[in-house]
Amino acid sequence: MAQKISIFDTTLRDGEQSPGCSMNLDEKLRMAHQLESLGVDAIEAGFPIASEGDYAAVRAVARECREATVAALCRTSAQDVLRAAAALEGAAHPRIHTFVATSDLHLEYKLKKTRAEVLEMTRLAVLLARDYAEEVEFSAEDATRSDVDYLCAVLAVAVEAGARIINVPDTVGYSMPTEFSKLVRIVRERVVGDRNVQISVHCHNDLGLAVANSLAAVDAGARQVECTINGIGERAGNASLEEIVMAMKVRSDQLPYETSIDTHQIYPTSQLLSTIIGCSVQPNKAIVGRNAFAHEAGIHQHGMMSNPLCYEIMTPESVGVPNNKLVLGKHSGRHALALRYEELGYTLAPDEVSAAYGRFSELADRKKRIYDQDLIALLSAVSRASQQPLCEGGAEVVQWRHASSYT
Ligand SMILES: [Zn+2]
Repeated sequence: MAQKISIFDTTLRDGEQSPGCSMNLDEKLRMAHQLESLGVDAIEAGFPIASEGDYAAVRAVARECREATVAALCRTSAQDVLRAAAALEGAAHPRIHTFVATSDLHLEYKLKKTRAEVLEMTRLAVLLARDYAEEVEFSAEDATRSDVDYLCAVLAVAVEAGARIINVPDTVGYSMPTEFSKLVRIVRERVVGDRNVQISVHCHNDLGLAVANSLAAVDAGARQVECTINGIGERAGNASLEEIVMAMKVRSDQLPYETSIDTHQIYPTSQLLSTIIGCSVQPNKAIVGRNAFAHEAGIHQHGMMSNPLCYEIMTPESVGVPNNKLVLGKHSGRHALALRYEELGYTLAPDEVSAAYGRFSELADRKKRIYDQDLIALLSAVSRASQQPLCEGGAEVVQWRHASSYT
């Protein structure tokens, strides 16, 4: 049987704290409910000691979300742990998530603590947290740049004190997949052994390897992955939930794991987040970008596939992208096409409608389903064709009048 991988969503904490992604309490609650519909195992709702707003948000999410575990982040001081515990009062499944850095760099310059002091801080924080929550997660910040022996010693202290989940973060997105899986194996052998303790990973995307590192860690024995919707998060972001989940689903031959995610809720969740924070994902973003299912065939007249499997490793429907095949098909008129473009945020001039319609008709002859993404790809083909003489001249560029971001 496939092993279950827990999905720990930190969109509302790590994601929300990144520039341009802040959410108010109502917005956090809307996202939290959607995350429950998506089927995440845990929602990290905030960092209660950081602000009154974070405290209130964790408290509200803890009271309203009854299915998922609700986690609150805290450092190791008693004040921090108690604030997290207070915010989680009334939660159906509370988890206190305490962390401290373990790399010498952080110890010396940020914490100004010795290794022995950090060991003791870890022990006391986990013991205190356990007084308030059955489920305590401990994270060793900057684990991938920590001395391995010392990292294992800190994690072992956390486990001895009662942590059920030990998290190995690649805080600065520095690790390589082979190196990271080796580290997770070492932690599994030296710290976990046959104890009922879950290894978690939390990867950042500074080198574009957050998802690859997370999957490598799963292969090495990690059973919880921390991630965010659309991969939002500090700097280059966190590992993207949708990519991790769909990689496991599409390549179950290579990755024999399962999650509790309802993949049909992926696209609606991504869209809700984009709408709330007012920030669309890049068009070519895997799984949820607007071009993710727009095939070359939508751009070129030849090379059209008669079977979607030629180019489609998963269907747009499988991740919840709405299918507009009933709206637009072979017999749709110019007016319907222009209207659909308008709904997508593109206002076309009559000659532009004619050009797009010509391409659309050719595509409709060959392809049964025409998605919004295909229409957008058609536009760029039309745009390129009409741009050619202008581009040779050098300066002018045809601009499509894009009324609003694609939602
Ligand atoms: Zn992080």
